Amino acid sequence: MTIKVNILTIQENLAAQQALLKWYEQHGRVLPWRAHYSQKADFYHVVVSEFMLQQTTVSTVIPYFKKFIEKWPDFKALSEASLDDVLQQWQGLGYYRRARFLWQSAKILKNSIPTSLREWQGLPGFGPYMVAAVGSIAFEAPLIALDGNLKRIFSRLFKENDEKQLRALAQSYLHESRTGDINQALMDLGSGVCTPKAPKCFDCPLQHFCKSYQEKGVAFYPAKKIKPVKPTRYVYAYKWVLEGKIVLEKREGQGLLQGGLMGVPLSGFMDQKPENFIIHVKHTFTHFHLYVHVCVDKQPLMNSAYTWVALNKLEDVALPVLMQKIIKNKD
Ligand code: SF4
Repeated sequence: MTIKVNILTIQENLAAQQALLKWYEQHGRVLPWRAHYSQKADFYHVVVSEFMLQQTTVSTVIPYFKKFIEKWPDFKALSEASLDDVLQQWQGLGYYRRARFLWQSAKILKNSIPTSLREWQGLPGFGPYMVAAVGSIAFEAPLIALDGNLKRIFSRLFKENDEKQLRALAQSYLHESRTGDINQALMDLGSGVCTPKAPKCFDCPLQHFCKSYQEKGVAFYPAKKIKPVKPTRYVYAYKWVLEGKIVLEKREGQGLLQGGLMGVPLSGFMDQKPENFIIHVKHTFTHFHLYVHVCVDKQPLMNSAYTWVALNKLEDVALPVLMQKIIKNKD
């Protein structure tokens, strides 16, 4: 595939960035992990916030970020915390793998900061987006942090729908100074101006450089994708409660609902609805819906992975949202 060249001239590109940066200085969001544009960002704050912001909105992250930073103010403090404590603090944010990766990365970053792209990519949880976001915001690395918001902006700006072309065009758009501010300005633009529906083009600093706007074609970019229908899966959950205590197990491994999190015992997931299955709880994951039949009538068949936990101590335990719904279910 031939990679297209940036359709803006060097002068247009520079003028677009100046307009964007000026807009950011006036309209950029004030966020607890973000430094003023004239100051250097706190590396630890950038890493924690970028882990939290994956798949999660800014408004949800803000209170979690503040509490997290208060409890563990730097990489050293976080690296000395127990994983159970970190997971418990993460409770409600979901995608607990991020918490484990952050904790593992803290153990490395407390001693040294990677100096090459390869080392960055070797850190737990640091995919291309994380490397670009952290690298540019904390160290001015010349990398574009291409998430969904930025892809939408560049798709409209360059009238391009192909993912590989977009990545190359977006990278060629970036100049080598203030790369962190440019990425953050684009994040803000995507969140408040170049929105998925009804973009506010009249307020946009890139209006004069935006090919789809100039050619009255904004509605065609990015091309609409047909969303695949999510399948439904079924599971039995065993809620054994006796004398104010409930049986929980620590779910080991890396998969869904695992990675050191606690929960009531579950059967395996099933693709077909079993006979007499009653749907007590519904929950939606990224790739499927899960219907849960909560069994409360059987005596526990205890094994070494199970433990009794007092119901009034559950707030001290890292419980995923699905488990909270199952435990609260009254049937
Ligand atoms: Fe997005 Fe409109 Fe700005 Fe183009 S002019 S980048 S479509 S907000």
